[in-house]
Amino acid sequence: MDETPPPPALTKVVATIGPASENRVAEMIQAGMSVARLNFSHGTQEEHALRISKIREVSADLGAAIAILGDLPGPKMRVGRFPEGSIELAEGDVVMVRSGDGMSTDNEVLIDVKGLSTRVEPGHRIVLADGQVELIAVARHGDRVEARVRRGGPVADKKGVHLPDSDVPYELPTEEDEGWIVFAVEQGIDFLGVSFVGHAHEIETIRGLAPGIGLVSKIERVAARENLLELLEASDGIMVARGDLGVELELEELPIAQKNMLRTALTAGKFTITATEMLESMVTSGRPTRAEVTDVANAVLDGTDAVMLSAETAIGKHPVEAVATMSRIARAVERSDRYRDLRRIAFRSEEPGFSNAVALAAVRVCEALDIGHIVCFTETGNTVRLISRYRPKAEVIALSPESGTVRSMAMLAAVRPYWFRRDPSLEDMLWRADRMLQERGLMQPGEPLVFVAGVPPGVARSTNMLKVHRLGQELSLTSRPSEPFEPIEPGAS
Ligand code: PGA
Ligand code: MN
Repeated sequence: MDETPPPPALTKVVATIGPASENRVAEMIQAGMSVARLNFSHGTQEEHALRISKIREVSADLGAAIAILGDLPGPKMRVGRFPEGSIELAEGDVVMVRSGDGMSTDNEVLIDVKGLSTRVEPGHRIVLADGQVELIAVARHGDRVEARVRRGGPVADKKGVHLPDSDVPYELPTEEDEGWIVFAVEQGIDFLGVSFVGHAHEIETIRGLAPGIGLVSKIERVAARENLLELLEASDGIMVARGDLGVELELEELPIAQKNMLRTALTAGKFTITATEMLESMVTSGRPTRAEVTDVANAVLDGTDAVMLSAETAIGKHPVEAVATMSRIARAVERSDRYRDLRRIAFRSEEPGFSNAVALAAVRVCEALDIGHIVCFTETGNTVRLISRYRPKAEVIALSPESGTVRSMAMLAAVRPYWFRRDPSLEDMLWRADRMLQERGLMQPGEPLVFVAGVPPGVARSTNMLKVHRLGQELSLTSRPSEPFEPIEPGAS
């Protein structure tokens, strides 16, 4: 095999596969997609099953480890319907709001949530049409809430509603979500995005229904931001879901909220996806705006593991170009001194195990000797996640015998995952890895690297060893008297 390996992908690209991209998965992978997202709010199970089999087939053909993230619809509140199909609200208008999902009459807005008038208090915001229109509750009259229009505009049938200030009861997972969770388990997908989550117990419920699937808390409600620490603890990663979050927060609060959440997640050792409108203009245009390019670059500088494309690739005109553009922006930032000089996370004292210490040591050895590769053997991906979180300058080549682990690691910054057969002997594993790195052209003979492994091999959560090595050189772990043993001098190659 003499394929040229793709350049190291530090920050990963998540791309939503929809009607515009379902027949272009190979090109999307070649353009730099590491995670394929399916938005379960749109499309049937049959359509998504077809997409899943295409993604699996194409990634197998290309020998690429691609994770699949299914995004649950979650409890999205919506307005009812209007006799004319929509209404126009002007600033200063007074309207009545009440629970219901049918046809509204008079000057009334229905919202499909029970007990609205007991939950919405005077002063609370009622945000309609995904942020276009904002009402402020002024008084309660029985089961109706009187509200004044603060920001006017059109509201069409079934448009989304946010009640950021009100404690509205809802069930999560919803019945619809449960159907998709069963589907996700049957299909063996790698991650589920949990929309509108607010509390860790909701993640725990889903964990019980979907054991083995990585859970991504989408931070898109005020409650989720407030409970970020407990959500991080319960989840495998988070998504900074700027679409809905931008409705719940004042828009100008978003940039700092993003930076804080990414930092908190990195400190907690969980992965992050920065999402929504990143290259929005590419839905129609072949080139993004300067502001969008800068937004992607800033998310990379904020230390996100992955940046995400939604409509750009699901229904846009230029899905492959959008992925290629996003990858190019990320690579350009990663080559800069600014990216290399980012403040690194300290030793994770909440996780003071051998794995964590070895992970940090591997990162430090690479920095001290300017070594470009860490090669890590892993069963569950845990050690790789720990290494990734220290944001090494070296690329992490992650080798696992578990296909699910290999795919899931595609989400992590600085990680290039491969399937690799388990061996009872560490010596044989190191030797085979050395050969594999040469055969795949991932490294050149004589190049230094750091091996991270657990002894004995094949046991989960047993990382306890670090070995500095030069590709192609002696790997025997015992000195054999029959063959003269020549130690390798530091600096020799
Ligand atoms: P969505 O989530 O695209 O599923 O709504 C992302 C967001 O709200 O930003
Ligand atoms: Mn959302």
